[in-house]
Amino acid sequence: MNNATTADRRIAVVGAGIAGMAAALELHEAGYRVDLVEQLPVLGGRFGLDRLGGRPVMTGGKNLGRKYSALRGFLDRLGTPRYEPFGINTSRVVDGKLLTLDSTQTAWDKVSRLRRLGSVRDLLKLARLGLLVRRAEANRFLGAPAFAQVAAASDDRPLSEHFGSDIVRKMFRPMTVRMNGAEPDEVYLGTFGTNLSMIMDTYDQLTDGITPAVTALAERVSVRTSSRVERLITDGGRVTGLAISTDGGPVADCHYDAVVLATPAYATAELVKADLPELSETLQEVRYFPAAVVLVHYERPVFGTRVRAIVLDDGPCSNAGVYGINDLDIVRYTFSGRQARPVPTADVLAEWVDDAERRLFGLLGHERIGRKDTVTRIWDAAYCAYVPHHGAFLDRVRGQVTGVEGLELAGDYLRGAPLEACCRSGIEAAQRIRTA
Ligand SMILES: Cc1cc2nc3c(=O)[nH]c(=O)nc-3n(C[C@H](O)[C@H](O)[C@H](O)COP(=O)(O)OP(=O)(O)OC[C@H]3O[C@@H](n4cnc5c(N)ncnc54)[C@H](O)[C@@H]3O)c2cc1C
Repeated sequence: MNNATTADRRIAVVGAGIAGMAAALELHEAGYRVDLVEQLPVLGGRFGLDRLGGRPVMTGGKNLGRKYSALRGFLDRLGTPRYEPFGINTSRVVDGKLLTLDSTQTAWDKVSRLRRLGSVRDLLKLARLGLLVRRAEANRFLGAPAFAQVAAASDDRPLSEHFGSDIVRKMFRPMTVRMNGAEPDEVYLGTFGTNLSMIMDTYDQLTDGITPAVTALAERVSVRTSSRVERLITDGGRVTGLAISTDGGPVADCHYDAVVLATPAYATAELVKADLPELSETLQEVRYFPAAVVLVHYERPVFGTRVRAIVLDDGPCSNAGVYGINDLDIVRYTFSGRQARPVPTADVLAEWVDDAERRLFGLLGHERIGRKDTVTRIWDAAYCAYVPHHGAFLDRVRGQVTGVEGLELAGDYLRGAPLEACCRSGIEAAQRIRTA
C-alpha cells in the first residue's frame, strides 16, 4: 500500500472538523503525505472544543450514536475511546405535564407515547418512512435513491405540509431544529431520513471528550493551524495547490497533488469561486442556520436521572439538558430555530439564558441554584439544512467536480449533518483519491 508513488504525493485536506480529520487519517494510513489545513488555532471544527472552569468540554456535536460505525472506527484507530451512555432522553410539556421519551423505554412505551403526539394517519405515514430507514443503512444518509424517490414525489412542499400540525409541532420540530437548526417548514421529506435515523439510534458520549483523538491525529499527520485557505490553484483543469495565508500573514502558494475541501458548502463555494464558478453557485444553494450554545456549571445538580433534557419550544431556547449522564450539575442550553435568529449579541444571549433558566427551574421545581462557571459559543452557521431535492443537487455537484482532477469534497452537505455522516464523507473523499 505504502509505495513510492503514493508516499511522494502531497495531499492537502482543508478543514479540521470530523470530515477533514477522517479524510486526513485515511490518506495518512494509505501512505500519502498529508497536510491538514485549518483556519482556526484549534482542530475539531464543530465538535467545539472549549473549557468550562478547568475542564475540557465540547460546545458542538458530542452525542455519538451506537450506529456511528465509521466514526467509532476512526476513534478506535486513534486510541482507546471510553464511552458513557447518553441515550435519547427528552421531555416536553404536554397538557401541563412533562412527557418523557427515553431510548431505554420499551417499544410499547414509545408507541403509546407517540400516539399522544399525532394522528394515526400521520403515525402510519411516519412508520412507512421509518421502515425505509430501518431496511437499508444507505437510507440514513443523504443521496440514498429511496429518498430521492420520496423527494421526487414530495419536495415541492416542505415537511410541515405533509403532516398534521400536532405531530409537526410536537415531534418533528424538535428533530429538525436539533439536527438542522431549521423549522419543519424549512426542510423537506427527501432529507428526512437523516432526521429519522437520529431518533432510531441510542447515544453515548466520550467520557474524555474528543480531545485525546484530536491530539493523537495531530501526532500522525502534519497539521497547519491558523492557516486560512483563500482559493484553489488550478492549471489546465487540474488542481495543483492552494493559496494559504498563515497567522493573518501574506498569501503564499503551496503545491499539492490533490486537495480535499472538507469545509461547509458556503466556505467551499468561496474557495472554488474563481476557478469553478458553476460549482460555487450550486454550493451556495445549501442553507445553514445559526445556534448559540451556553454551558452553565451550577453549584448542585439541576436535573435528575429520569428527566435529563427538556424541549422548550416557545422561545429562543430550543433545548436545555444535562451535559452528560454524570454531569447533572452542568446544563447545556441550545438556542436555535426561528426564534433564535438572527444570532444574538452577548447581552441578548445573557437575557435568553436567564429566561430559559427561570423556566427550566420552574418546570423542575427548583428555587435558585447558583452558577459556578459559564462558557458560550455562537455558531453563525451551526447546522446544515440541505436543499429540496437534495439527491438531484448531489448529482449536479458530482457532475461539476468530476473532470476536475485533484479535487475532492467532503462535509455535512454531502451525506448529512450528523457526525457519522460527515465522517463518512471524509473517508469516501479519501478513498476516491486512492482509487483515482
Ligand atoms: C451545537 C451543535 C451540536 C451538535 N450536536 C451533534 C451531536 O450531538 N451529534 C451529531 O452527530 N452531530 C451533532 N452536530 C452536527 C455536527 O457536529 C456537525 O455537522 C459536524 O461536526 C460538521 O463537521 P464537518 O467536518 O463537516 O464541518 P466542521 O466541523 O465545521 O469543519 C470544517 C472546518 O473547516 C474550517 N475551515 C472553513 N473554511 C476554511 C478555510 N478557508 N481555510 C481553512 N479552514 C477552513 C473550519 O474552521 C472548520 O474547522 C452538532 C452541531 C452543532 C453546531
